[in-house]
Amino acid sequence: MSKDLEPGVIRKLDEVVVNRIAAGEIIQRPANALKELLENSLDAQSSHIQVQVKAGGLKLLQIQDNGTGIRREDLSIVCERFTTSKLSRFEDLAQIATFGFRGEALASISHVAHLSIQTKTAKEKCGYKATYADGMLQGQPKPCAGNQGTIISIEDLFYNMPQRRQALRSPAEEFQRLSEVLTRYAVHNPKVGFTLRKQGEAQPALRTPVGSSRAENIRIVYGSSISKELLEFNHRDDVFKFEADCLITQVNYSSKKSQMLLFINQRLVESAALKTAVDSVYSTYLPRGQHPFVYMSLTLPPQNLDVNVHPTKHEVHFLYQDEIIEKIKEQVEARLLGSNSTRTFYKQLRLPGAPDLDETQSADKTQRIYPKELVRTDASEQKLDKFLAPLVKSESGGSFSSSQEAKPLPDRSFRVTAAKKTREVRLSSVLDMRQRVERQCSVQLRSTLKNMVYVGCVDERRSLFQHETRLYLCNTRVFCEELFYQRLVYDFQNCTEITMNPSLPLKELLVLSLDSEAAGWTPEDGDKAELAASAAEILVKKAPIMREYFGLRISEMGQLESLPSLVPQYRPSIAHLPVYLLRLATEVDWDQEARCFETFCRETARFYSQLYWREGSDAVHPRWTMEHVIFPALKKFLLPPPRLKDQIYELTNLPTLYKVFERC
Ligand code: ADP
Ligand code: MG
Repeated sequence: MSKDLEPGVIRKLDEVVVNRIAAGEIIQRPANALKELLENSLDAQSSHIQVQVKAGGLKLLQIQDNGTGIRREDLSIVCERFTTSKLSRFEDLAQIATFGFRGEALASISHVAHLSIQTKTAKEKCGYKATYADGMLQGQPKPCAGNQGTIISIEDLFYNMPQRRQALRSPAEEFQRLSEVLTRYAVHNPKVGFTLRKQGEAQPALRTPVGSSRAENIRIVYGSSISKELLEFNHRDDVFKFEADCLITQVNYSSKKSQMLLFINQRLVESAALKTAVDSVYSTYLPRGQHPFVYMSLTLPPQNLDVNVHPTKHEVHFLYQDEIIEKIKEQVEARLLGSNSTRTFYKQLRLPGAPDLDETQSADKTQRIYPKELVRTDASEQKLDKFLAPLVKSESGGSFSSSQEAKPLPDRSFRVTAAKKTREVRLSSVLDMRQRVERQCSVQLRSTLKNMVYVGCVDERRSLFQHETRLYLCNTRVFCEELFYQRLVYDFQNCTEITMNPSLPLKELLVLSLDSEAAGWTPEDGDKAELAASAAEILVKKAPIMREYFGLRISEMGQLESLPSLVPQYRPSIAHLPVYLLRLATEVDWDQEARCFETFCRETARFYSQLYWREGSDAVHPRWTMEHVIFPALKKFLLPPPRLKDQIYELTNLPTLYKVFERC
């Protein structure tokens, strides 16, 4: 051991150096300073804010406003730490509604740059100009001419911190960041006019007018490709006490760049949790790797917001965060579905090369799944069906006599015509039907359907599916009926056709239908052949409507030539065709447009939802159809009305099963 080794002497750091280091933590680049200055100008009730920069704000960052100004007597202390006109007691911290809450911004800036303030209040006859260094006023404020308001000039940022200065080499990048901060505040404060100018350039880099609107400012700064797709909404929640003002793009718009402008209580902040949540809603509709544009302004009771975060860390946390985010997700989804974008969304599905929804759909990745919640979801694994005895049972209720035995036509008799160019629907009756579907859609049930996993089917009416840790039994028939109804409504005028080859004679089919119990024919009704002939006549007469709007073709000779193809790969059961045709002739209200479409769609949906259920027939196996055709379509297309909730029964859930096994 050497005796000479002495410990280093601990010295107190010079106060100026300490302050400088602390200030450098708060002001890390020009954009941080600009954010603080913009908030000060907005606090001072300015209606016009002009920013001028040189070398990305590194040489000069100047902000001029027409706000209240600073009183002369305050100029001596305005740059000292913890001086603020915005709160006086510690308790105010929780209540403060203005942006500034630390009284540190100007002080910090004065430690890392040359700062000068020129200001004039309404009361004073002239303005004053003062310069500051390390938090202290240099000399006395000098009287000067000027309008009401404040000009704050920051020169040579980090002149006294060479390493920091070095790290910010690119003025272009700093300018980009400055412009991003300014545009966000401009969108959030449309009543205030903003200008951003590079010194020496005649044209401002950015300008928004005084008294504008948010949507208009978004158009000005982000362009019309975003602004024309915007959906605006406001949501108030009295339970979790928050209000959200949002402008979000519809699903037609998407971009590689994810843009989320988030303000909480008027402060520009970031929330990774909220961003992920909103993105997860869109991921169902947008191609993989594509994002929406989202502006969101949340207002929370100030005491619920954790303001005590590091000033440069804009990430915020707030009380009831998970619940509030969940509510916002619901709202976003509801608006996306409620907007006419759904129509385009349906159209997109029809276009070749459109993204496959199932593929782009991604589960909320932030959600952690515990082992006890893990359940089998691999569709290729064994299905419950394997354990069930094959069912040989015909459609209960509508039991056919002779026609019931009619076999579905072999597959080659169907040919689906290629998709035509999409025609735009203008009929208000149809638009109303769509609107009704969208308005009634249960967001919660839709989310369940979207994320469910098919387990197996019990019979032609009932299937099992799993959602999260729950196992459900659902009335497939009712779900299918609604699905086919909606497909007709959305494919209106654009139905692809299933061609019947050969075509089928209407009259013969109608005679068959009268033989069925469902028709309820009695001798008093008259001769079957005559009745069939008059029903056929009605259908031939109404054929143009059915052909034009629904892709159902009946020739003048009374031959059925095609049926609409509503779900890819799905063919309706020919066994039920005769009764369907009879009902078209008798139950559809052909006289009044809206009623006609509604009743036609309902009757057709009813027919399509009756699956042909015979095991071992030469048709495609119905269980296969259920799993690979019907369920994917339900997941993809159905906007479920709340009444369908009654058609789902929770059989069991994982925690309950665990309890059962524990007892064993
Ligand atoms: P804070 O905003 O937290 O109060 P700052 O250091 O940002 O702290 O500002 C200190 C004080 O300077 C403010 O409280 C305000 O009184 C005054 N001030 C700063 N900028 C302006 C401005 N543009 N117009 C009027 N007053 C201002
Ligand atoms: Mg401030």
